[in-house]
Amino acid sequence: MTVLIVGAGLAGLTCARHLHQQQIPVTVLEAEADVGGRVRSDHVEGFTLDHGFQVLFDAYPAVQRNLDLRALDLQPFEPGAIVAQHGHQRVLTDPLRDRNWGDVSEAAITTAIPVADKLRTVRLALKLRGQEGDQDAEPDTQSTLEYLRTEGYSERTIDSFFRPFFGGIFLTRDLSTSAAAFRFYFRTLASGQTTLPAAGIGAITQQLAAPLRAAGAIRCNARVAALLHDGDRVTGVRLSDGEEITADAVVLATEAPSARALANLDPPEGALETAAIYFAGLEPLYTSRKIVLNAAPDAFVNNAQLLTNVAPSYAPQGRHLLSAVVLGAPDLDDGQLVVAAMQDLRQMFAGDQRALQALLGYYPLKVYRIRYAQFPQPAGIYSRLPENRTGQPGLYIAAEWTEASSINGAMTSGERCAALVGAELRQQSAAA
Ligand SMILES: Cc1cc2nc3c(=O)[nH]c(=O)nc-3n(C[C@H](O)[C@H](O)[C@H](O)COP(=O)(O)OP(=O)(O)OC[C@H]3O[C@@H](n4cnc5c(N)ncnc54)[C@H](O)[C@@H]3O)c2cc1C
Repeated sequence: MTVLIVGAGLAGLTCARHLHQQQIPVTVLEAEADVGGRVRSDHVEGFTLDHGFQVLFDAYPAVQRNLDLRALDLQPFEPGAIVAQHGHQRVLTDPLRDRNWGDVSEAAITTAIPVADKLRTVRLALKLRGQEGDQDAEPDTQSTLEYLRTEGYSERTIDSFFRPFFGGIFLTRDLSTSAAAFRFYFRTLASGQTTLPAAGIGAITQQLAAPLRAAGAIRCNARVAALLHDGDRVTGVRLSDGEEITADAVVLATEAPSARALANLDPPEGALETAAIYFAGLEPLYTSRKIVLNAAPDAFVNNAQLLTNVAPSYAPQGRHLLSAVVLGAPDLDDGQLVVAAMQDLRQMFAGDQRALQALLGYYPLKVYRIRYAQFPQPAGIYSRLPENRTGQPGLYIAAEWTEASSINGAMTSGERCAALVGAELRQQSAAA
């Protein structure tokens, strides 16, 4: 019994870990020079640069089931956010979880959000955080925007808070993403912490890969060019250098466009793009561990965060690391992107002379453009996603696109695929 897993992202690695635990021999084939897929970090001159701004919600059920969170040395953000608009910054927070009493009282009196919406948010958090499971419990029939309006939120709160905050999670500010995703994220946010592993977001996939690497079960720089068939049955893969490898089962754990190129499958269409621009500075820009949201309707930077306030290990001693997130794929070269982001950062901190002075000392480190960060998830999508089992014998899927475009979705898909493949291989060997 041998299993080939094509792709060493979260889903492929989670699947491989579970099969390995079932004593089923696996080989993970990864096209890139290292594992991790979309969850990777670079370490450059003492700075930790994640491939795009990404956080780990420690309340994700699949994260709790699959990761050693203590070993990741998670560094928490403070709940809520700082909202920048019209040259002012205002604190919004979750009074049920924030232990920064200064922020809680400032958020309580701010008029940026109507009192009725603050109460709605507390009520929603209390309602959702009792729920369990890897998905939202309610019908998936509305967009997030429709849901927020149905819940009675004012357009002011939707525009100044929900668009930039959930824009940073959904990678689009139009709130067209399914309300089922919104409720799941809201529940996760309300139930735990938003964190960064001290060694970077890539520490997650490195942790999953470690026992597989030790067992010699990972091959990097191994791009799969085609699947091998015997009649209907998928029997192995051909690598781009021509090498052929056969197996009892092949698990496709690639992102949707690569899967479409390799097999006759129907993964979700479309791609959400984003860019992260890293700046280093000598002075802290602000002191809190909250994300700063740009509520301007014409925002270029959606959100910015002084990562070293949350995880000092992200920079060498005496330096500060700022990341600015741009949604979509602006038609600018890296130099122009840096200039446009810095201009917008100056707008976001326009009312704070100290911050503006500090910003003068910030210099660009690196730009990451992520061409495929997530697939779009409009209302109704979850019932249309493929299953782990394909119509082709010997071929299975472990990838976010059987569940949801998220860390939790990818890991849950990996778990489910491993259970399915393990059961079917055992059945086949019992019948033989
Ligand atoms: C910038 C950014 C922000 C995000 N923010 C969040 C967030 O806040 N919360 C959240 O939950 N999720 C977030 N996500 C989404 C989350 O990271 C993904 O849903 C998840 O990582 C997908 O994992 P995967 O294993 O399905 O795919 P991938 O990580 O894409 O792994 C696929 C792997 O297959 C490999 N591969 C492809 N083709 C081949 C081939 N032919 N041969 C061999 N290997 C191949 C690729 O190199 C890759 O390593 C974000 C993603 C990005 C990029």
